[in-house]
Amino acid sequence: MCPLVSLQDIPCIMGILMAIQPIDRQQRRQVRDEADLWRRRAEVLCGVELPPIAVTFDLRGRAAGQYRVRDGYRSIRFNPYIFARYFDDSLAVTVPHEVAHYAVDVLYGAVRVRPHGEEWRAVMGLLGVDARASGCYDLSGMPVRRQRRFRYRCDCRTHELTTCRHNRIVRGQAVYHCRRCGAELIPHKAD
Ligand SMILES: [Zn+2]
Ligand SMILES: [Zn+2]
Repeated sequence: MCPLVSLQDIPCIMGILMAIQPIDRQQRRQVRDEADLWRRRAEVLCGVELPPIAVTFDLRGRAAGQYRVRDGYRSIRFNPYIFARYFDDSLAVTVPHEVAHYAVDVLYGAVRVRPHGEEWRAVMGLLGVDARASGCYDLSGMPVRRQRRFRYRCDCRTHELTTCRHNRIVRGQAVYHCRRCGAELIPHKAD
């Protein structure tokens, strides 16, 4: 996701009970039209040329949307399951959110600015969309991948770290400390 939407704290529930159906063809067309509308609005309001961009519905997990550049190819990905449950909200918030990332990328280069930094917030302001409105969705019943956790310990307890944090530690890019005892987190022996 652009870990675009902060859904980290929502407990993962594998789709057991109310399996949700992804949005259908007609709704996908509606989302594409809306994205195109926001793209053209952003062109005018930000004074930047934004060529039509591919919109796909292959995003899964906890993120509602993602702006992606891969091999120089730009696309906006949406999660058809989250859209199915929160269609109006996603249309009103997630779509312009991702188009704003696109505009920021063209204007400044996405790798040069913070994903939700002042440049992005300024574009959201120009679009007239509240940048603080991010989804806090109930994902029960959706196919959400369970994130792998790595066990670490300090002097007082064990900690479950995300793959992202674990990798940073392994690469020597970060050191984490327990907020309670202040000790550095080290891999749990049992692992
Ligand atoms: Zn974002
Ligand atoms: Zn501790």
